[in-house]
Amino acid sequence: MPKPEETPMMVQYHQIKAQYPDAFLFYRLGDFYELFEEDAIKGAKLLELTLTARNKNSKHPVPMAGIPHHAAQNYIDILVDQGYKVAIVEQMEDPAVAKGMVKREVIQLITPGTKWQDAPGDGKENNFLAALTYQDKSFGLAYIDLSTGELKATHMDSAADALDELRSLEVKEVVLPTSAGLPADFQAQLAETGWVLSYQSQPAEESLISYLTNGLLFENEKQTTALLLAYLFDTQKRSLDHIMPAQSYERLSFLKFNQATRVNLDLVENARTKKKADSLLALMDRTKTAMGGRLLKQWLLRPLRSLGEIQNRLDLVDAFLNEFFVRGAIQDQLKSVYDLERLAARAAMGTMNAKELVQLKRSLSAVPAMQKDLLDGPEKLKALGEKLDPLSDLTTLIDQALVDDPPVSVRDGDLIAEGYNDRLDEYRQVLTENQTWLTTFEQEERQATGISNLKVGYNKNFGYFIEVSKANIPKLDPDRYTRRQTLTNAERFVTPELKEHERLIIEARSQATNLEYELFVEIRDQVKSQIKRIQALAALVAQLDVLASLAEVAENQNFVRPNFDAQSAAVSIKQGRHPVIESILPAGEFVANDIEIGQDTTIQLITGPNMAGKSTYMREMALIVILAQIGSFVPATAVTLPIFDQVFTRIGANDDLARGQSTFMVEMAEANQALQGATSHSLILFDELGRGTATYDGMALAQAIIEYLEKNIHAKTLFSTHYHELTALAEQYPDIENVHVGAQVDADGQIHFQHQVQAGPADRSYGIHVAALAGLPEPLIKNANHILQDLEAGRDLASDKPLPVAPEARPVPDQLSQEVPLFDLSAPDEASEKVLTELDQVDISNLTPLEALNTLAKLQKMR
Ligand code: ADP
Repeated sequence: MPKPEETPMMVQYHQIKAQYPDAFLFYRLGDFYELFEEDAIKGAKLLELTLTARNKNSKHPVPMAGIPHHAAQNYIDILVDQGYKVAIVEQMEDPAVAKGMVKREVIQLITPGTKWQDAPGDGKENNFLAALTYQDKSFGLAYIDLSTGELKATHMDSAADALDELRSLEVKEVVLPTSAGLPADFQAQLAETGWVLSYQSQPAEESLISYLTNGLLFENEKQTTALLLAYLFDTQKRSLDHIMPAQSYERLSFLKFNQATRVNLDLVENARTKKKADSLLALMDRTKTAMGGRLLKQWLLRPLRSLGEIQNRLDLVDAFLNEFFVRGAIQDQLKSVYDLERLAARAAMGTMNAKELVQLKRSLSAVPAMQKDLLDGPEKLKALGEKLDPLSDLTTLIDQALVDDPPVSVRDGDLIAEGYNDRLDEYRQVLTENQTWLTTFEQEERQATGISNLKVGYNKNFGYFIEVSKANIPKLDPDRYTRRQTLTNAERFVTPELKEHERLIIEARSQATNLEYELFVEIRDQVKSQIKRIQALAALVAQLDVLASLAEVAENQNFVRPNFDAQSAAVSIKQGRHPVIESILPAGEFVANDIEIGQDTTIQLITGPNMAGKSTYMREMALIVILAQIGSFVPATAVTLPIFDQVFTRIGANDDLARGQSTFMVEMAEANQALQGATSHSLILFDELGRGTATYDGMALAQAIIEYLEKNIHAKTLFSTHYHELTALAEQYPDIENVHVGAQVDADGQIHFQHQVQAGPADRSYGIHVAALAGLPEPLIKNANHILQDLEAGRDLASDKPLPVAPEARPVPDQLSQEVPLFDLSAPDEASEKVLTELDQVDISNLTPLEALNTLAKLQKMR
């Protein structure tokens, strides 16, 4: 109910606001967008605006904050980037002629997922809006990048998969059906993600929607895509002709890995630094266009499983590697190609300006040269070249129609080139003639009046004038000159002829500007009618760019083409390297290692001191697999791989330690995903599994997990461990083998790492050496050495068996029963038992060095 004192404008405001309660309303008022009430108070803070009030002196002043309309985009970006929505309310009629209240409407709702105006620098990022539905126990998922028109859909059975897919896409916003239907616990999980959630009712049958969803086979993919499109049409309220018909994809056709793995392997950003640098993507990205950059990221996050497709990409990379000059020439051309996908989108939405049309022309002009280079190349490249359509009709059109450097504004003329349109040329002719007339007129006036500094000028408010300095005024014939304006030292006049020519000039100019705008819109529409071709070209150019980039990296980083043997499960990597760590270390410092896992080997147990390089070795394996399956060359000297279906990782990130108690839970949950999801074609990396709990628990679980993998799953597994006892499993199971990363201790007790992976288990753990390396206080290290000696001696004395030379020589502890525990305590004395119990309770992952020192001192006292 409007309050009685409410003005008609506020009534209108409230009517509109009621339809968009969750958005900031940018309410157009003359040259400003105004925020009112709550929006104004909140917006003033977020945007650092001055908070004022409308009807200040009334009983109920309305809080208000204004934004000049020409600066609106910045403010919109700030709000949308923070997860808010902005509804743009425009005046729908000219206030000068409107009767009563000016009609206003929301012309666009800008939301985090539908923002398509990219800030400079983020061209290589997609901005995905997704939709999710759930029916018949299956999730439908659709997503679109509105700025490129790419629309995809898939379906899946598990909520975890659905969430993971959305994470992988880094979606900004998720559209859900208003009619509930999603499982309640899933809703709760969604709410925790921080994504903006929007609700949309399922659309009625609509022809454009059915056209765009026509290619989808699954009903829930169709429904979800329709929901997504309905939301877009409702919010954007403009032509979206660039949206491509939805393509269905099957998650099973890609090498699958979850968010934890993407993070653990630093695929798109470095987990430790949270920066994009030092990620696999940053290393691999030598693309020259934004489209190529986006595609590379998509490839990296969705490696293939089809051998044919992988080989096809590899063949092309190979061709670009061999044809060095072709590649160089094409990459040079690519540098002048703008973001064709986003230009096509702008053309569709009618927001493309003349500058962007010229960008399109420049981009297209690069195509014929690229095409020629490809056609001159080997067979594989020739085939690519044949597919390129240089769209020369558009290049010619834009070239003939537009000037080379048009202004940003499309309504103020100076866009259209000479000779493109006869009528425009005529108007311009009139203008030129009149300009010439003005010059002649000035000269004639000077002669006639004898005033040599008389000049003819132009001013926005008064039009054309004759300016005469005060001293010369008496020389003028007062009948002929009409006074227009008085300045300090001069006066300005007009004459009837001048007025007449002014009229001609103004008329010709306004006709010309209007015509230019009409012509411009026609050209833009012609470009718009060719969107499909621009998009097809963009897709090919993006691929070219990525393939050339892969070749460039292969060459610079010394990568080799991987071989695949789909019949065998054997892995053979000769002199493999971790590409990112290698690139960070000084040249030549990275130690290459072979990774050989035989056809029949399931699990490789990796032992060795901390910092020796165990987890680097494991990650390296996964990165090589991922690179190989996107069709890239890999960092090694020779590689043969099977095709993997999934990669699972459980690698403790540093910040896990900080999270304390929950660490172990996370660890087990991630391990469980692998145990539940892996097949014999999967790759599993378990880094020190079990260390998040007490030693016996941890070791028991680790062993049980290894045995479970060995018996039930047969996935290729790299398992690094601190529990030397586990290395004995290799004797019991033929498909478990040991490797270790060694270290050497010099005469001074200093530890040195060679980062060499060798067969067999590690002989000792070097924990104290590493602690010394980390700079723990010397007395502490000495103390630890004492304790260790005592412990070892104690075990030696207590047992009637001699201390085994290598731990693997001892019998394997039976799972969980602890018949043969970590230390043989057959007859412990009371004191050592106390020490051990105490030791057992120490939560090493939560210990500060000082606490460690205190603990050791306490232990020592207990003896
Ligand atoms: P671990 O898992 O055994 O504790 P990491 O794999 O984390 O050890 O390696 C520790 C550090 O050692 C790495 O950050 C890297 O700097 C270095 N390193 C590891 N492997 C190699 C290698 N093969 N060549 C050179 N340096 C390496």
